[in-house]
Amino acid sequence: MLNERMVALGTQRSVIRELFEFGKMRAAEVGAENVFDFSIGNPSVPAPDVVNETALQLIKESDPVLLHGYTSAQGDIAVRQMIADSVKRRFDFDCRPENLYVTVGAAAGLCCCLNGLCNPGDEVIVFAPYFPEYKVFIEGAGASMTLIPADIEAFQIDFDTFEKSINKNTKAVIVNSPNNPSGAVYSEETVKKLADILDAKSAEFHQPIYLIADEPYREIVFNNTTVPYLPKYYKNTLVCYSWSKSLSLPGERMGYIFIPDCVEQQELVYAAIAGAGRSLGYVNAPSLFQRVCAMCADETADISIYETNKKILAKGLKDMGYHVVEPEGTFYMFPRTLIADDVAFCEKAKDFNLLIVPGVGFGCPGHTRISFCVPTARIEKSLSAFEQLAKSFR
Ligand code: PLP
Repeated sequence: MLNERMVALGTQRSVIRELFEFGKMRAAEVGAENVFDFSIGNPSVPAPDVVNETALQLIKESDPVLLHGYTSAQGDIAVRQMIADSVKRRFDFDCRPENLYVTVGAAAGLCCCLNGLCNPGDEVIVFAPYFPEYKVFIEGAGASMTLIPADIEAFQIDFDTFEKSINKNTKAVIVNSPNNPSGAVYSEETVKKLADILDAKSAEFHQPIYLIADEPYREIVFNNTTVPYLPKYYKNTLVCYSWSKSLSLPGERMGYIFIPDCVEQQELVYAAIAGAGRSLGYVNAPSLFQRVCAMCADETADISIYETNKKILAKGLKDMGYHVVEPEGTFYMFPRTLIADDVAFCEKAKDFNLLIVPGVGFGCPGHTRISFCVPTARIEKSLSAFEQLAKSFR
């Protein structure tokens, strides 16, 4: 008898994968240039030159046995020192190598945190709309997910429902700002209120409720929007960072967890996270790219195209009558669908070769996610397809 949960996870194709396959089929029929695939969140700009130059320099100049060898499980010490210096520089927040655990992207960071923190029966709160893998990661850690419905006016937080949902089993809360799929950035006001509630509830239940900040999109913001640094507002914060989007390196699988000194029993929490990394078999994050990312920690790819795309798409859709909460970051837009049934809406969109993802999978029906990490010309060309789609519902 196999593990039924794993069989299900391994066989159910995600909606995004289905769309991807459909896109390939349509491209063969009508030409790739006429298919508007907005399904996948794969960065469309190359990694900056400095990444490749650093990798080549490391390959040429390092001792190959060391360069390709195992590192410490928590990450090479020199790597963690460079990342700590970058955190201090960028966020003006104390950070030492002992506060950092280098991971295989944010996904592994989240899994290490959840497995390190959670016991059976624990609950982890997530705010809709949310990255669907959270449910898989939370349940994989033996906990259950409590979903707080979306605030569809601004994609901030419905605090009344949130407060009522916290109980003695609440172990952690995951926040993702800038957010996939809404593109919203939590304001300082939202963050302060969140921190106040978590402080009060931790005191009420005599145990810490951890805040897990999932931050792969931190650098991708528009109009110079500030993304509050959560450890400054709430002491029991664990930051899961990733270079997948900022450096356009999703396939290299690099990120880190920051466990600041202010976290209660920091050393114990760090040990639990390290134990989780060990039990999940991560061993260590990729050695070469640990060094590359640490040496390029303050760099980004040329992410300006995302702001250009956002402006064109948001204006185009609004002019056609779509309801759009303008994203403040990421490369996603999450407009309302023109009919309540978002699945039917996205199915209809396929008639116009528009591949967009229903909101229901993100816990927010009545919306659709558009990944605009594509060439700007494709955004421009797609507007007539969005117009035809709108017309079909008038
Ligand atoms: N969290 C969110 C919100 C994401 O959108 C993604 C990837 O798309 C991840 C985590 C995983 O990122 P990584 O490639 O760093 O594992």
